[in-house]
Amino acid sequence: MDLEMSAADLAFRDEVCKFLADNLTDEIREAARLSASSFSDFHVSQRWHKALYDKGWAARSWPLEHGGCDWTPMQRYIYDTEAARADVPTAFTMGISMVGPVIMRYGNQAQKDCFLPRILSAEDVWCQGYSEPGSGSDLASLQTRAVADGDDYVINGTKIWTTGAQYANLIFCLVRTSETGKKQEGISFLIFPMDTPGITIQPINNIADVHSFNQIFFDDVRVPKSSLVGAENDGWTVAKYLLEFERGGSAFGAKIEASFNAYHRIAACFADQGALDEPLFAQKVAAVKIQQMAVENTEHRIIAEINRVGRPGHASSIMKVLGSETDQRVTELFLDALNIYAAPHQPAARSPGNNSVPVAPAAGVALVGKYLHNRAASIYSGSNEIQRNIIAKRVLGL
Ligand SMILES: Cc1cc2nc3c(=O)[nH]c(=O)nc-3n(C[C@H](O)[C@H](O)[C@H](O)COP(=O)(O)OP(=O)(O)OC[C@H]3O[C@@H](n4cnc5c(N)ncnc54)[C@H](O)[C@@H]3O)c2cc1C
Repeated sequence: MDLEMSAADLAFRDEVCKFLADNLTDEIREAARLSASSFSDFHVSQRWHKALYDKGWAARSWPLEHGGCDWTPMQRYIYDTEAARADVPTAFTMGISMVGPVIMRYGNQAQKDCFLPRILSAEDVWCQGYSEPGSGSDLASLQTRAVADGDDYVINGTKIWTTGAQYANLIFCLVRTSETGKKQEGISFLIFPMDTPGITIQPINNIADVHSFNQIFFDDVRVPKSSLVGAENDGWTVAKYLLEFERGGSAFGAKIEASFNAYHRIAACFADQGALDEPLFAQKVAAVKIQQMAVENTEHRIIAEINRVGRPGHASSIMKVLGSETDQRVTELFLDALNIYAAPHQPAARSPGNNSVPVAPAAGVALVGKYLHNRAASIYSGSNEIQRNIIAKRVLGL
């Protein structure tokens, strides 16, 4: 991929930097810095999404016909890099990054007309109902059942680790619609409102003490058959297509750059103590930096592949493993840099606008939370062991 910037690219970069400078308020940046979850504070990130939407930049990877940007890979790279440098929040956009591309490919016209504009404007907020207790890596063994009854399905079962279900008004959900044949063949992909009678949400706090995910219970939940995306019992095809975007589309390069920014901010607070300049530690930082560059190059290859054939393919598994493990290594540097200040537990100091007095220097107050939450990066979107199995089988042909 050609990474030389043309005059047009440089002008575009100026436009991006101006947009970021004009719209990223201190409050929005603070929410990004304080987050100890996959997503920044929901309400603040919705405001950030609105600014992007008004500019026409909400769905940067979508095609123009559905309100996307139609940017070149270089433009996306420029935006992601500048956005990470400026500390943009991670908005809660499972609609844009996951279910949107699925509706574009497998949805009928009515579903496209209804949902795509509302995903773009963030009027609708989506959550992902895939995992169940006992069905995570072995997702195809899922047991939540949808039984046909006239024009409806009646759903019973439970989903777990459902990120952001407390904010979502819609869910995309894998359900079992047939018990015959292979377990993959009896699954369907449904989309329906979270306020449908019979749905209960039970919060789960993450290791950093943030309510980021939930368990959802379905008790005779009745949804119309028009909730089906794709064909009945062909949900596994739809689900796998979505997972390619979930695993490959996480802009890991930008995330890691943001983590490095956080590291440098806290390292600067202890600059006079010299411990972080020790040759062995400096070598460790350099090794992670080199790994970050490998992630960026892999990401460029994937963007070029999406541009060429429209989907990331199995390279998304490579990106998931490399990106998540590199980001974990950067967040491990946080603990080295914080030293004794890694010990105090002050979750209240991580809410935007709080008035707690942090024990650690202000730049470090969220870093242990980020480190802890980031342990999950090698589990969510399909664990890294599973991704390695996919790479061995589908990429290396072992
Ligand atoms: C922060 C976070 C957010 C999440 N958000 C969502 C969400 O919004 N929606 C949703 O549906 N799910 C979500 N998940 C769930 C996630 O997809 C699952 O946790 C993941 O798929 C792993 O499943 P499991 O937890 O059941 O672990 P298990 O499948 O029980 O795996 C346990 C361990 O065994 C290993 N293992 C299992 N099978 C194999 C094998 N065949 N070969 C080698 N090793 C294996 C795994 O790698 C793992 O280390 C989230 C998870 C986390 C941590």
